[in-house]
Amino acid sequence: MEIIKRGTKPEDARHIGTCANCKTEVEFARSEGVVTHDQRDGSFVSVDCPVCVYKIHSDL
Ligand SMILES: [Zn+2]
Repeated sequence: MEIIKRGTKPEDARHIGTCANCKTEVEFARSEGVVTHDQRDGSFVSVDCPVCVYKIHSDL
């Protein structure tokens, strides 16, 4: 089989987020975070900030 156009598995999708507390910017794979589906705010993925105690959120 030949791949015509390679896609990305959802869990491998890359996300960039900024910590609202200490302004640290991180890039991470979706599988590294926790996905939350919120009816009101939409879906997002969150990881622990490596610098402080806050959560970093990124929209799906
Ligand atoms: Zn932080």
